[in-house]
Amino acid sequence: MKQLHPQFGFNTLAVHAGTAPDPATGARSFPIYQTTSYVFDDADHAASLFNLQAPGFIYSRLTNPTVAALEEKLATLEGGRGGTVTSSGQAAETLALFPLMAPGMEVIVANKLYGGTINLMGKSYQKFGWNAIFVDSENPEAFRQAVTKKTRAIFIESLANPGGVVVDIESIAKVANEAGVPLVVDNTMATPFLCQPMEWGADLVVHSTTKFLSGQGNAVGGVVIDSGKFTWLENSKFPSLSTPSPEYNGLTFAETFGDLAFTMYSHAISLRDLGCSQSPMNAWITLNGIETLPLRVERHCSNGLTVAKFLEKHPSVEWVSHAGLESSPYYKLGKKYMPDGTGSVFTFGVKGGYESGLKMLESVELFSHVANIGDTRSLILHPASTTHRQLTEEQRIAAGSGPEVIRLSIGIECAEDIIADLDQALRSLG
Ligand SMILES: *Cc1c(COP(=O)(O)O)cnc(C)c1O
Repeated sequence: MKQLHPQFGFNTLAVHAGTAPDPATGARSFPIYQTTSYVFDDADHAASLFNLQAPGFIYSRLTNPTVAALEEKLATLEGGRGGTVTSSGQAAETLALFPLMAPGMEVIVANKLYGGTINLMGKSYQKFGWNAIFVDSENPEAFRQAVTKKTRAIFIESLANPGGVVVDIESIAKVANEAGVPLVVDNTMATPFLCQPMEWGADLVVHSTTKFLSGQGNAVGGVVIDSGKFTWLENSKFPSLSTPSPEYNGLTFAETFGDLAFTMYSHAISLRDLGCSQSPMNAWITLNGIETLPLRVERHCSNGLTVAKFLEKHPSVEWVSHAGLESSPYYKLGKKYMPDGTGSVFTFGVKGGYESGLKMLESVELFSHVANIGDTRSLILHPASTTHRQLTEEQRIAAGSGPEVIRLSIGIECAEDIIADLDQALRSLG
């Protein structure tokens, strides 16, 4: 793991980054600043805030102290320069692309992705005139071949949904670099504890903080983190950042804010106009969750691998896709990008196809049948009948969610209890 801080390691930063004691009261748990707005000192102070000439708080759609603490913690843990927290992971994806895209422009997208992302990019973005070009996530050369003059970004997941697929971040980062566009990596399933995509050349990292970061299935949220390294002024592809903004007295974000340009734009324009900001309460829940991220993810990973090994030997199981299994085609990439573990979300194929898949869901007792991952509790899902239901059969198979596929998100309970529950459910299939 990259040394993120000259003095402190990851576990220390997970607890402390962004959350110093409250200067006003000394409160040690970071306060929930449950306010919409902030009193200006005087008219000049207000003017300088609105002109982006002074840092400070105006209105919680743009910035809020509790949300800002979460932004700092997440940017630190990813090794980035700045962060923008959003109302959900889906919102984070749109916020990552908003400064980059324009009608008629293209984003090259990996085909193995969270089902919601495939819908968002493949369908809804067409309404903005943004074109998503889907390519084989396992073939960096396919990304290169898809580059055109209209390409404005490349989007991948580090550990791809619905599970078990490790993507070759470094090779795809090279393609993005040569094309002169940012690589955006959705790092939700790996978390910065297992993988820091910026270390391998990613320019922007997005998360659904709903999952392992908040960690207990109780707060929807997202974040975009910018490495601060992309040179927006190098070509003319990104006028939002490289040309004057009339609404801010003609300031040019990339000139005025340097390596904070993307993050400043995201607050001053993207959040201001799209309004997908996070509530202080959810930011506070997520701040607390992240303090225990390293402990939880270690247990998630060890339980996940134990369960995957059990399933691999089970007579009612056709295959298991977990990058920690030596049989996995992603084992080597996993060792490179996620040496401490490849997460606890993975898929397996149950014998008997669609019908067995549904029966399995009805037979488990400890597992919860929900459309979520990254909870302390073990979760189970049949993507073909739920999250990937709106896709065509062809898209479902391409996305690794065919009729026999079951997705597990292994929790932090006792591994033997998780295994016993799966075993009785598999036996009930006959
Ligand atoms: C859940 C998820 C999202 C969407 O996040 P929400 O917080 O549900 O909006 C995006 N990407 C991945 C990989 C996810 O798992």
